[in-house]
Amino acid sequence: MDGVRAEPSDDEPGQGALFDWAEPVPAAPSRGGFRGSAVARRMLDVREVYAEPAALASPRGRQIMAGLPGVRVTEVPSHWRIPSLHGNDGNVARWTRIKTETLVLGVKRTLETRPNGRSADWIAPGPSNGCAMACAYCYVPRRKGYANPITLFTNIEAIVAHVRRHVRAQGPKSEPNQCDPEAWVYDIGENGDCSVDALVCDNTADLVATFRALPTAKASFATKFVNPDLLELDPRGRTRIRFSLMPPDDSRLLDIRTSPVAERIAAAADFLDAGYEVHFNLSPVVLRPDWQRDWAALLTHLDDVLPPRVKRQAAAEVIMLTHNQALHEVNLGWHPKAEDVLWQPQVQEAKRSRNGALNVRYAVEIKQRALAELRTLLTAHTPWLRIRYAF
Ligand code: SF4
Repeated sequence: MDGVRAEPSDDEPGQGALFDWAEPVPAAPSRGGFRGSAVARRMLDVREVYAEPAALASPRGRQIMAGLPGVRVTEVPSHWRIPSLHGNDGNVARWTRIKTETLVLGVKRTLETRPNGRSADWIAPGPSNGCAMACAYCYVPRRKGYANPITLFTNIEAIVAHVRRHVRAQGPKSEPNQCDPEAWVYDIGENGDCSVDALVCDNTADLVATFRALPTAKASFATKFVNPDLLELDPRGRTRIRFSLMPPDDSRLLDIRTSPVAERIAAAADFLDAGYEVHFNLSPVVLRPDWQRDWAALLTHLDDVLPPRVKRQAAAEVIMLTHNQALHEVNLGWHPKAEDVLWQPQVQEAKRSRNGALNVRYAVEIKQRALAELRTLLTAHTPWLRIRYAF
């Protein structure tokens, strides 16, 4: 059994769109063969490529296209604005089809590393923008619209050279902090999911290889997809993979097209044994009736199934839900059940972001109370799980 079931009807978005939840399939070591598997193809089955000419002509662009024989290519002046792809028109069936069947190749023109200080010390220029998954709370499509499929940046040599220069310029980390006691941590997946990118492209592999040779730094990325091909990348402790977790009922409702939570947890030991540091993102924490009961069950499951070697090195970030009015309105059009839990004006307060968007987050006292409750649950059920930060 491959853990896959047929797509549900178009008007019934839900977690089961890709995977069967009843039987989690632990990630098995592979020899790079997962890319061609049925699960991988259900996530990404590229039928058309939109590409900037320079991206097509680049070595990475040519390598990607060599793996996509016969796929139709449309040249575009810029990966940023492709009217037939981006924007919020169309229902989720069209969005998910675009996410599954369309790939964009572009050149990343601004190479900039930004300070962070919470999850990572630095946000590196990402090797992609956009995602084949469709989490209802995702902020990544905010600039291109919800159907934002994966754009792969083909100038990976320039990204790698930039990162190397930045790491060397920092010198050794002199003081431990919440990101890491010794290494400068660089988030390499701010605007996508590196595990899914790796289904069609070696950008993730190149960055893992880069950090393998940088003794003062460490790559880090969050993921909701278990890609066993990553087990072959030999990170030698210099890449931190952060499996995002939430109670399975929430995930089925909100984490559209992702790997089941139980599968992400079951993969942790394989990734540790393959040389990754394995952390967890407890995020987003969504407050709704009985959330404490379901988080307690999730933490109990973690405690039951993770082997001691995973627990010894594990840490977690806790991130409370933030939402956005524009996204709320989009979601009402295709997945209103998600909005029943994501949009709760009676407990949320609005904040205008620097770019003018109206974001909402739990009111301060409610958030502080919930974080305190969650910390109590963590102490009770997963006392070994160090919290790097809770936000
Ligand atoms: S996996 Fe991450 S990037 Fe992809 S849709 Fe979900 S939240 Fe967004």
